Amino acid sequence: MAAAPQVIVVTGASSGFGRLTAVALARNGHTVAAGMRRTADRNAPAVAALHRLAAEEGLALSAVELDVRSQESADLAISTVLDRHGRLDVVVHNAGHLVLGPAEAFTAEDLAAVYDVNVLGTQRVNRAALPHLRGQGSGLLVWVGSSFTRGGHPPFLAPYFAAKAAMDALAESYAAELIRFGIGTSIVVPGTFTSGTNHFTNAGGPSDAARDKAYEKPYGELRADLADRLNRLIPPEARAESVADEIVRIVGPQRTG
Ligand code: NDP
Repeated sequence: MAAAPQVIVVTGASSGFGRLTAVALARNGHTVAAGMRRTADRNAPAVAALHRLAAEEGLALSAVELDVRSQESADLAISTVLDRHGRLDVVVHNAGHLVLGPAEAFTAEDLAAVYDVNVLGTQRVNRAALPHLRGQGSGLLVWVGSSFTRGGHPPFLAPYFAAKAAMDALAESYAAELIRFGIGTSIVVPGTFTSGTNHFTNAGGPSDAARDKAYEKPYGELRADLADRLNRLIPPEARAESVADEIVRIVGPQRTG
C-alpha cells in the first residue's frame, strides 16, 4: 500500500515547542495544521513566517485559527482541517499558559485562566476531533505535560503545576478509554527549555536563600529576577528542538493505506 502523510493539528504553534513541532512534523512528510489564535492580528507575523517557510521548503504546513479557550474555535479549526485535508490523524495538545507568583497571591480566577488553556483547552479540541478519529478507527493524541507536577518545586508556579497535573490525569483517562477504538495517547514530559512560556520555568529552581529573599520583593521584581536567572541558566532553542524530535518519533512515519 502507498504511504500517505498523516494529517496533524498542533495547538499553540505560534512559538516555542508548538512551532518547532509543526515544522519538524512537516519536514518529516506529514501534513500539518499549525493552530494559532487570532491569526488576523497578533499572530499575523507568525502566520506569515510559517507560510513563507512552507513555500520555501515545499512543506504541507499551514496555519489554522484556533483559540483553545473556545469550543466554537476548536470545532471550526477541526472542521477546517477536515475540509482542507479530508482526514485527521493526530492532535498535539501543546498550547499552554502560565502565571508566576506565590500560591496565596492568586485568585481562583487566576487558576481558572490557567486551567482554561492547559486542561479545558485539550477537552475542547478532543470533543471536536474525537468523533472523526473514532469514525476512522485510528488516531493519536499527544499531550505536552510537565515534569514538575509533584513536589511544588520550583516555587511560584502553583496554578501551572496544578493544571498540568490535572491535564496528566485527563490524558490518562483518555488513554484508558480510547485504546479500544484504536486511538493512542501519549504524554510528552519535557524538562525545562527556553522559548516563550518557558522563560518562567525552572532550571533547578532558585536556592532556598534566593526564594526567601524573593518573597520579600514585589511580584514584578520576583518575576524579572526569575526570568533573568533562568534565561542565563538555560541554553536556547537547540534543546527545545529535542522536544519536537520526540514528538516526531512518537507520531511515526507516514501511514499506509
Ligand atoms: P510558548 O509560550 O512559546 O508556547 C505556548 C503556545 O501556547 C503559544 O503558541 C501560545 O500562543 C499558545 N497559547 C496560549 N494560549 C492559547 C490559547 N488560548 N489558544 C491557543 N494557543 C494558545 O511556550 P513553550 O513552547 O515553552 O510551551 C509549549 C508547551 O510546552 C506548553 O504546554 C508548556 O506548558 C509546555 N512545557 C514547556 C516547558 C518549557 O520548559 N518550555 C516545560 C514543560 C512543558 P500565543 O502566541 O497566541 O500566545
